[in-house]
Amino acid sequence: MENELLRLKQEAEEALGGVQNPAQLEAFRVKYLGRKGGLLTGVLRQLGAVSPEDRPRLGQLANDIKQAIEGRFDEKKELLGSALQAGASGAVDLSLPGRFLPFGKLHPVTQVMEEICSIFEGLGFAVAEGPDVESDYYNFEALNIPKHHPARDMHDTFYVTDSILLRTHTSPMQARIMEKQDPPLRYIAPGKVYRCDSDITHTPMFHQVEGFLVDKEVSFADLKGVLTSFTHKMFEKELALRFRPSFFPFTEPSAEVDIACVICGGSGCRVCKRTGWLEILGSGLIDPEVLKMVGYDPDVYSGFAFGLGVERIAMLKYGIDDIRLYYENDLRFLSQF
Ligand SMILES: [Zn+2]
Repeated sequence: MENELLRLKQEAEEALGGVQNPAQLEAFRVKYLGRKGGLLTGVLRQLGAVSPEDRPRLGQLANDIKQAIEGRFDEKKELLGSALQAGASGAVDLSLPGRFLPFGKLHPVTQVMEEICSIFEGLGFAVAEGPDVESDYYNFEALNIPKHHPARDMHDTFYVTDSILLRTHTSPMQARIMEKQDPPLRYIAPGKVYRCDSDITHTPMFHQVEGFLVDKEVSFADLKGVLTSFTHKMFEKELALRFRPSFFPFTEPSAEVDIACVICGGSGCRVCKRTGWLEILGSGLIDPEVLKMVGYDPDVYSGFAFGLGVERIAMLKYGIDDIRLYYENDLRFLSQF
C-alpha cells in the first residue's frame, strides 16, 4: 500500500503538471481528489483493512500525500485564474511579459530647458548657474538699474531684505561671470526666477535662460545669427524672425524678438492674436555702462545678451495656452510629454 501511495503521488503530480486550462483542472480534481471514486480517496478508504500496527504510519503518509496534492492543486488553480484574468484565453502563456512599474519622466519645462541648453552648447556656449537668492547689486545695479530707476517697476520683485531679493531674471550671472573672467566669453545661464505675478501667462516662479557673448567686434548681426539658428533648431522649422526696437536698461540698442506664429505660420490665428507673430525673447547689445562696471573697455569689447522664458517656449512648442498647467502636478497632463 505504501508503494501504491507513492506511485499515486508521482502520477498525480505529473498529471497536474500537464493541466493547462480550468476544464482539465476539474477533470484532475474528479479523478484524484473526488469524494466518490477519486483515486486518492479510494486508497484512504483501504486504510481500514491495514493491520493496526501499520495503520498510524500509513495513515500519516496518506494524509501528507493528500495535503501535498491539494496544495499543488490550489496553486495551479490560482495560476490559471490569474492567467484567465489577464485574458490569456485559458492557457498559461509563460512568454507574457511581466508587469512593469511605471517610469517617471522629466517635467516638460525641464525637458525644454535641457533642449535649449543643448542647442546653445552646440553653438559654443558654456552653461553657468547662480544663486536664486541674489543681492540687489547683481540683480539690478550691476545691470545699469540703479535704485529708483523706473525699470525696477517692471520686475515685481520679491524682497527678502532691502538689499537681498529673489532674482527676477537670470541676468545677474552676466555680471558675476564678467567680474571674474576676461573676454572672449560665451555663456548661457539657465534657472528659476521669481516675480510677484500670477495669471494664465504668468506664474510667481518661472524659468529663464540668459545668454551673452562678449568679444571684440561683436555686432547685432552676430546676435541675429545666433538667435536665428536657435529658433530654427528649437521649433524644427525655418520660421521668420522679427526684431522690434525695445528698451532694457542693460542693453543698447535693445530688441524684442518675434517669430512667425508656429501655429498659423504667419497668416493670423487665435494664438498669435491675428498678428501672425509671437514674442519669444528680449535681446540687445550689452550696454557700455554694464561693460565699464566690470572693468572692460567698451572701446575694445562689445557683446550681446538675450533672455528667454522657458515656459513660454514650451507653451509654443507644445501648443499649451495656460502656463499654470505646468505647476498643478496633474499627472494626466505631465505624462503627455
Ligand atoms: Zn498664428
